[in-house]
Amino acid sequence: MKLHFYGTAASEGVPAIFCECAYCKKIRALGGKNYRFRTCAQVDEGLLIDFSMDGYAQTLCRGLDLSAIDHLLVTHSHEDHLFPLGLMQIKPPMAYYDRERHLDVYGNGMVMKKIREMADAFNPEGEILRDYLGLREVSPFETFSVGDYRVTALPANHDKREDCFIYVIEREGHTLLYGHDSAMFAEETWEALGRFSFDCVVLDCTMVEKTGIFAGHMGLPDNIRVRERMLAEGMADAHTRFVATHFVHSQNPVHERITPIFAEKGFIAAYDGMEVEF
Ligand SMILES: [Zn+2]
Ligand SMILES: [Zn+2]
Ligand SMILES: [Zn+2]
Repeated sequence: MKLHFYGTAASEGVPAIFCECAYCKKIRALGGKNYRFRTCAQVDEGLLIDFSMDGYAQTLCRGLDLSAIDHLLVTHSHEDHLFPLGLMQIKPPMAYYDRERHLDVYGNGMVMKKIREMADAFNPEGEILRDYLGLREVSPFETFSVGDYRVTALPANHDKREDCFIYVIEREGHTLLYGHDSAMFAEETWEALGRFSFDCVVLDCTMVEKTGIFAGHMGLPDNIRVRERMLAEGMADAHTRFVATHFVHSQNPVHERITPIFAEKGFIAAYDGMEVEF
């Protein structure tokens, strides 16, 4: 399995659009791997996880090829993970094809509601939802097929107003945990995670090397606790790749600064354009 990161920032982007802090000034001067779009990742060729307002920019600047994407898994409905207006561009006169085009979108009830509301406003004739987008509402603890993948939606600890999910994605004996956005997992989620043995674990690291600043998120100290428990309880072993992502601008997520700090604790600090294979 291959996981490609198109966006590794928290909701404001890095640097943050309105921000004049010293970190953002430095990051604007450095550019390169320090620029982080809002979150998005691709599994192998056809499965995308989350699609934000940066989706369009990611097609221009990060090599995201939406023509290859047949399935979209959405973790939750926050705007840095779901941009319904972007999905409306899938149909003529915004997009033309010489083939059938269909994108299946999987997510919680709030994700479905936000996409439906946008489709009703944008396309009252209903072709988008009839011919182009397949909406698949998913329930907590449900296991379902997504193309060749077996996906299990587990409750994140993120926003009580909706069923935010982390996803376990399996194919041909390889297992990925896509674990954000979430604060420390609840025991019922841990119990379900205990059935798997992971090749790759991607975690919410909004607070970079701090913790306790943003509710509903983790930082490196929390990521370390997750890793230690997974290793202790057999969900992970020495070959498991642990990746931290979803960094906030205000904790100085400069790539060269955080890479050794995370590596020392057994983590790969993600950057836009990074690919892990497992
Ligand atoms: Zn987020
Ligand atoms: Zn800033
Ligand atoms: Zn969120």
